[in-house]
Amino acid sequence: VPTVSIYGLQVCKWGMEDTVKYLTQVIESEEHRPFQVITANPIMVMKALEEPDYMRVMKNAELLVPDGTGVVWAASKVGTPVQERVAGFDLLHELMRVGENYHWKVFLLGSTPEVIQAAAERLHLQYPGVEITGYRDGYFKSDQDAEVIAQIREAAPDMLFVARGADTQEPWIAQHKKELGVPLMMGVGGSFDVISG
Ligand code: UDP
Repeated sequence: VPTVSIYGLQVCKWGMEDTVKYLTQVIESEEHRPFQVITANPIMVMKALEEPDYMRVMKNAELLVPDGTGVVWAASKVGTPVQERVAGFDLLHELMRVGENYHWKVFLLGSTPEVIQAAAERLHLQYPGVEITGYRDGYFKSDQDAEVIAQIREAAPDMLFVARGADTQEPWIAQHKKELGVPLMMGVGGSFDVISG
């Protein structure tokens, strides 16, 4: 994967099309190592510079994609431009679109119970070829992690989208990605709020 280094973070240079092609291979491969995608925006980069734990989460992600024009700008400043912005919201939709061809299964985690239910219904109508094997709200405490992880494992999705606020969603995936064992895991921020209408 071609990358550009921004404050020590290796951000993928590909645009949407190549990124989706690559992630399709990741999901379809038999290998199935845990794979975390982080849509890196400037707020996250700044946070990583301030907090070593968050930096570790970012560095341990299997792929960082350039979300936010600030990251695209930074890449061009260091002389290694990325193709275009790859926003998390758009990437979610592209993966759902491609997922119809492969009959992927998806689990949606995060937001309020009402929002996640509405988002699941909308996504099902929009992408009937993708099976939503489960969804759950994002307002749970760490003593419920095991229960949530068990629910996701049982659903055995190909993709897991997580919206729990930028501060917690990426560390949560990073902390549990081995146990979760989902071929593709990605934080999607406020996407479910938008999708639910
Ligand atoms: N969220 C959640 N659990 C939490 C906090 C937030 O599921 O403990 C959800 C929230 O409902 C929203 C999404 O995470 O759908 C993004 O939240 P917010 O915009 O507050 O976070 P930010 O991205 O600004 O950090």
